Amino acid sequence: NNTLLEVKDLKMYFENKKGFLGKKIEYVKAVDGVSFKIQKGETIGLVGESGCGKSTTGYSIMRLYKPTAGEIIFDGKDIAQLSAAEVWPYRKRMQMIFQDPYASLNPRMTVSDIIGEPLDIYHLYEGKERQERIYELLNTVGLGKDHASRYPHEFSGGQRQRVGIARALAVNPDFVVCDEPISALDVSIQAQVVNMLEDLQASLGLTYLFIAHDLSMVRHISQKVGVMYLGSLVEFAETEELYEQTLHPYTKALMSAVPELDPAISKTKKPVMLQGDVPSPIDTPVGCKFASRCPYATKRCHEERPIFRNVGNEHYVACHLVE
Ligand code: SF4
Ligand code: MG
Repeated sequence: NNTLLEVKDLKMYFENKKGFLGKKIEYVKAVDGVSFKIQKGETIGLVGESGCGKSTTGYSIMRLYKPTAGEIIFDGKDIAQLSAAEVWPYRKRMQMIFQDPYASLNPRMTVSDIIGEPLDIYHLYEGKERQERIYELLNTVGLGKDHASRYPHEFSGGQRQRVGIARALAVNPDFVVCDEPISALDVSIQAQVVNMLEDLQASLGLTYLFIAHDLSMVRHISQKVGVMYLGSLVEFAETEELYEQTLHPYTKALMSAVPELDPAISKTKKPVMLQGDVPSPIDTPVGCKFASRCPYATKRCHEERPIFRNVGNEHYVACHLVE
């Protein structure tokens, strides 16, 4: 069994503060029934507009929250409802690279302290060994020893993200959630960081959940891609299959916004403009969540929620149009 992680019908609802003062408590359904599997050494891309629940899915898997429902089977063990103490050894095997390398590094800590912090939390190295480990990690992400005593503000965005990556790798994780790790970076250095993440994956045997807001960012790094809308996956497939046999109308709309490098194709390609608003994650529609914006929506779509199902070839889609 080569599966590292299996998420089954994961739900993460947050209590909405408006529920107080005698009113009925409402829930924000940030993650509302997400299921997928990741094999060891694989990268899964998770894509969707901001607020669709992709980061919350990542945080829930890492058990930064206790999920409302569902299973998170990590290396054979369901960790979804474990207590903080019980989840500790699993948490150590999962790390996160954050979107904003400016906000995610404490400006008052040196690079050495930042990278050393997870080593201290998990009591991994001490004294001279700890220092050597920090130098080794800096070297792994292409930064010299001389960077250790400096502060984040002395670095460029790309260098800061390297520090964030070194911090994530400090405890030798198996699984890394990369939460939009290149979105805040200059276009000219995005490819460098992606290439580095790929090299590290190969040399360290890492498994990634790579979160991004647009499909072009995940195509080359992911073996499989999931598309999220309003807390749920609407489509999930092997990368080439998803890009070439796109089935869900929402994925098609996202796909049409991906810049085309071939000018012959880009001239004929018209972006699909989505009309209408994303419904509130509190009052989610009874039918298809995408119905208010879908150009193909029928009466049935407004009344009945389509099931997320395998239509062959491990290609999953939630749409009544796809039979
Ligand atoms: Fe559009 Fe209906 Fe398919 Fe939903 S189920 S994506 S509304 S066609
Ligand atoms: Mg996010």
